Amino acid sequence: MSTQGTAVLTDIIAKFVDHTSKYLPDDVVRKLKELSLQEETPLAKAIYETMMKNQELAGKLNRPSCQDTGALQYFLKCGTKFPYIDELAEILKNATFKATQEAPLRHNCVETFDEYNTGKNIGTGIPSIFWDIVPNDENLEVYTYMAGGGCSLPGKAKVLMPGEGYEGVTKFVLDIMTSYGLNACPPLLVGVGIGTSVEVASLLSKKALMRPIGSHNTNPKAADMERLLEDGINAIGLGPQGLTGKNSVMGVNIENTARHPSVIGVAVNVGCWSHRRGHIIFDKILNYKVTTHSGFKM
Ligand code: SF4
Repeated sequence: MSTQGTAVLTDIIAKFVDHTSKYLPDDVVRKLKELSLQEETPLAKAIYETMMKNQELAGKLNRPSCQDTGALQYFLKCGTKFPYIDELAEILKNATFKATQEAPLRHNCVETFDEYNTGKNIGTGIPSIFWDIVPNDENLEVYTYMAGGGCSLPGKAKVLMPGEGYEGVTKFVLDIMTSYGLNACPPLLVGVGIGTSVEVASLLSKKALMRPIGSHNTNPKAADMERLLEDGINAIGLGPQGLTGKNSVMGVNIENTARHPSVIGVAVNVGCWSHRRGHIIFDKILNYKVTTHSGFKM
């Protein structure tokens, strides 16, 4: 593939990652505004005002909006005929390093066992790249995600006995939200994965965080469960930054697969208010479209 094309793709992804570190996605900005208007206590209102001010300054000063710029994770839907498929893993690594230098991003990659920080945000298996291969397709979709140490890296998963049913799933989710929900900075986007095993549920719970706020699972029963869990978690009253308030979450997104009849795997991952995920789609000649950030330009 052309070296020029590889360089162009690296530059666009690096610039996009840089942008997402400083500007939240449009749906998150909308939801934070909506939730802020529902709060009545001076403390909750002041926290939302601080979040807005934080965002304004991040743009003005050209700095990341949170000190923890996370470990980079990429969720791909890559066509088998996308011309840069063979180089893509290398391109994503280079783009991560470039964004780390240019944004700049905090150095969040420590080699396990050897215990040193690579200083580049790249290392063994980092950035994380999750592939979905799309047969006979020429395009590439990339979800970029900055997974923070306090929010969506410490997820939890468990395989329940089938008799525990959807009540067991609900209990698992609520137990996590009442014990852990404060550690990530609320209001949270809660991703729930339900599937046949612990690793399937875990990946689904993270993919659920890529879905837009306000979207629903296409299965009406799963969509009902999303609404019920949202009401239940809001009733805990975590409020912005966990300092009490009317709402705890920006939403609950469930993703699921079918499962073996004798188990029900469930996993929870939470995105914090600074939910830095982006979505960019490329065609084969590298025209691109961003669906999450209306202000992005090269
Ligand atoms: S939970 Fe989110 S906003 Fe809070 S410190 Fe971590 S990355 Fe930043």
